[in-house]
Amino acid sequence: MDFQISEDTQTILELINEFVDKELLPLEQDFLHRPWDELMPTLAAKREMVKQMELWAPLHPKEYGGVGLGLVDYGLVCEALARSPLGVFVFGCQAPDAGNIEILIKYGTPEQKEKYLKPLIAGDIRSCFSMTEPEQPGSNPVLMDTTAVKEGGDYVINGHKWFTSSADGASFAIVMAVTNPEAPRHLRASMIIVPTDTPGFNLVRNIPVMGHVGSGWHSHGEILYQSCRVPQANLLGPEGHGFVIAQERLGPGRIHHCMRWIGICNRALEMMCHQALTREISPGQRLADKQIIQAWIAESAAEMRAARLMVLNCAWRIEHYGQKEARQDISLIKFYTAGVMQRVLDRAVQAHGGLGVTDDTVLASWYRGERSARIYDGVDEVHKVSVARRILKQYAAEHGLA
Ligand SMILES: Cc1cc2nc3c(=O)[nH]c(=O)nc-3n(C[C@H](O)[C@H](O)[C@H](O)COP(=O)(O)OP(=O)(O)OC[C@H]3O[C@@H](n4cnc5c(N)ncnc54)[C@H](O)[C@@H]3O)c2cc1C
Repeated sequence: MDFQISEDTQTILELINEFVDKELLPLEQDFLHRPWDELMPTLAAKREMVKQMELWAPLHPKEYGGVGLGLVDYGLVCEALARSPLGVFVFGCQAPDAGNIEILIKYGTPEQKEKYLKPLIAGDIRSCFSMTEPEQPGSNPVLMDTTAVKEGGDYVINGHKWFTSSADGASFAIVMAVTNPEAPRHLRASMIIVPTDTPGFNLVRNIPVMGHVGSGWHSHGEILYQSCRVPQANLLGPEGHGFVIAQERLGPGRIHHCMRWIGICNRALEMMCHQALTREISPGQRLADKQIIQAWIAESAAEMRAARLMVLNCAWRIEHYGQKEARQDISLIKFYTAGVMQRVLDRAVQAHGGLGVTDDTVLASWYRGERSARIYDGVDEVHKVSVARRILKQYAAEHGLA
């Protein structure tokens, strides 16, 4: 395995670091205190600058107007972008659009690509992904109440979804709905593209998360699909293959998230160091002189290094051996990195004292918002159980204990 960063990627990372420092960090207070719509004109101008720099959509293939980076390189880009909460959005690689783009590229029909994929990659529209339901366990999504019934040339969708991130202002949703109730559990649901202006698509509210209602891209919607009728041509991929496609969407997505979380840790550690070196806690003594603070810094650095290497290694394994072979690695990085981020953010908040829990810095927003990292894209417990089962199975087989 080779972690040598190519010259091209190194150049991209330097450009991104400079851009984040100069153009995005100064917008942080606006991000924390202003509604999304008010930010958009400024963000649109920044996005234009990114396009001019030819760094737009770093993940997506060149033929679709992206930079076409591989998974390891793109992971490094996510890390660099995540020092600002606006980084991925301004560079056109934000969730949930990035995942939706990947599946539209792979499964979209020529018409779907023209109508939905092209403007999505260009950043002219946004999208959302609507799978989780309040009345069913998202950890076991084969238990799903939402249905899509064929009628004439249409699907008629009925169901209740929530945590459809970024639904507010999105142009379309990719909805998971049961189309084949008699099929085996994993082949019952399909992905269907639903324009959000379709009658019967009802955004009930943006759900307050840790006290933050949010708006626009930075929100999580609750949606009622009430006799929502779309043409059968809006089926994405084969009927009944919704879970298969969802799994494909999640694997690389976890690399993106984990590297983004490492980027957040990098920034939190920088802020912790700055605070430690500038806060005098008694005459002639700074926070940085206290061994307990030094221990937080060292522990954070060690955990971040471990997580980073695990994630890069996982990305490398996905690139070389495929997602299936890297299944265990994907579970390991998902819960481990989320935990590291939570601990690093907690130490950074603590080191800032009262300031740490205000919204005068970005730390509190991350501390609240990124708690969800242990829940979305697979809760910690499901990943741990899956890793432990594999390890136990292998041990049992090797030691005649099956
Ligand atoms: C910020 C955020 C953004 C999200 N964005 C989206 C989105 O864009 N689209 C979308 O469709 N969904 C989204 N989700 C939903 C997310 O995927 C679900 O919340 C997640 O899958 C967990 O499902 P649940 O909330 O129904 O919890 P449940 O499945 O009810 O689980 C509750 C708890 O039970 C425990 N548990 C569950 N299963 C097991 C097990 N097998 N063993 C041991 N313990 C277990 C865990 O502690 C878990 O936290 C988002 C969630 C959050 C928080």
